[in-house]
Amino acid sequence: TVWNYSAGPAIMPKPVLQKAAAELVNWNNTAMSVMELSHRSPEFEQILATTEHNLRTLLAIPHNYRVLWMQGGATSQFSALVYNLFGHPHEHVAADYLVTGAWSAKAVQEANRLGVKTNVVLDTTASNHTGSIDPTTIHYTPAPNAAYVYYCDNETVHGVEFPAVLANVPASVPLVCDMSSNILSRTFDVSKFGLIFAGAQKNIGPAGATLVLIRDDLLDRKHPTLVCPVMMDYALCAKNNSMYNTPPTYAIYVSGLVFEWLLQQGGIPAMEKRNKEKAETLYTAIDSSNGLFVCPVAKTYRSRMNVPFRVCDPTTGQPSNDLEKRFLNGAQERRMLQLKGHRSVGGIRASLYNAMPIEGVNVLVDYMREFAATVNK
Ligand code: PLP
Repeated sequence: TVWNYSAGPAIMPKPVLQKAAAELVNWNNTAMSVMELSHRSPEFEQILATTEHNLRTLLAIPHNYRVLWMQGGATSQFSALVYNLFGHPHEHVAADYLVTGAWSAKAVQEANRLGVKTNVVLDTTASNHTGSIDPTTIHYTPAPNAAYVYYCDNETVHGVEFPAVLANVPASVPLVCDMSSNILSRTFDVSKFGLIFAGAQKNIGPAGATLVLIRDDLLDRKHPTLVCPVMMDYALCAKNNSMYNTPPTYAIYVSGLVFEWLLQQGGIPAMEKRNKEKAETLYTAIDSSNGLFVCPVAKTYRSRMNVPFRVCDPTTGQPSNDLEKRFLNGAQERRMLQLKGHRSVGGIRASLYNAMPIEGVNVLVDYMREFAATVNK
C-alpha cells in the first residue's frame, strides 16, 4: 500500500478510481468512454445533471443558488470575482479581504492588480500565518456597501482553517469564500454565502474543473468598465448551463463519481466525523511528542485537512532540517509519500482529505512514535 498525503492533486477514493477504470472504455454500454462523448450529447447532459443533483443533496444547496463548472482553477476565481462582483451599486467602493495565508494573499494581490479598491481587514503575515487571529477582528462589521467580504476557509499551505462561518457580515454584503481545500469535509450553511468556489483537485475530483456556487442575485453585478473575459463570466456560464464552451467533461464525470461515493459513505456529516477523528489523532501525536514535533498553528485555527508540522532538535528546540530530511526519507521507505511541507513554510505537511482513511493517519502516527524513539535514544 502507498499512503499519499499530497496537498493536491490529492488522494482519490479507491472505489471511485476502480469504477472509473471499469468504465473507462465502455461507459454504460455505449462502447465509448465518457472522454469520447460530446458535451452536447444527452448522455453527458445526464451526467452533468446527476452530478449537480448529488452535489445539491450533499451540501443542501438552496434553490436560489447556481452550480457552475468553470475552468482555470481556483486561481482564475481570484480574477473572476473582481470582474463579476464590483458592479452596481458597488463600483466605487472596496471589497474587504481577510488574509490568513498564502492563498488569500494571492487573491487580494490579484484584485489589486486588476485595479479595484481592496480593504485588508485582517492580515496575519507578520505572524507567518500561524492563525494568530484576534477574534474581535473576525467579528468586525464590514461597511454595509462593501462589494464583498472575502476569506479563505482553509489555507492549504499554512494549515489555518476557520472553525466556523465568518459571522456578523450584514446580509447586504456578499460573503465570498475560497473552499478549495475543505469543501465537502464538514457541514456548513451555503445560504450564509454569496459565492463559494473551489478547485476540484482535493476533495472534489481531478484537476481541471473548478466549482462555483453563486446566489443568483449576484449574477448581475458586472464591473461597469473592466471588461470580463467570456470564460470568467458567471452570468454567461449560468445561462449556458456551464457549457458556453467545452467543459472539462471527464473531470466533471469523475467528480460525480466522488459525489456518489460521498452519499454512500453517509454524506457530509459522516465525512465530518471521520475528518475530526483523523485530525485529532494526528494533532494529539504532535502535541504529545515532548516538542519533537511542533505544529505552529494556534489551536482554534488548526486545519483538519492540512496539518503542517516541524521536526525539532530536542537539545535546541528549534526546527532541524537534518531531522526533517531523516523523517521524510524514513517515511518514503515506508511508502508514505508527499509529506514534504510547502517550500514557503518548510517542514512536514500531511493532508488528510476525505479520501484518506483513518488507517492512513494511524500508520503516520505509528511512524512518528517509531521515529521519536530513534531520536530520543
Ligand atoms: N486556493 C486554495 C485554498 C488552494 O489550496 C489552491 C491550490 O492549491 C488554490 C486556491 C489555487 O488553486 P488552483 O491551482 O486550482 O488555481
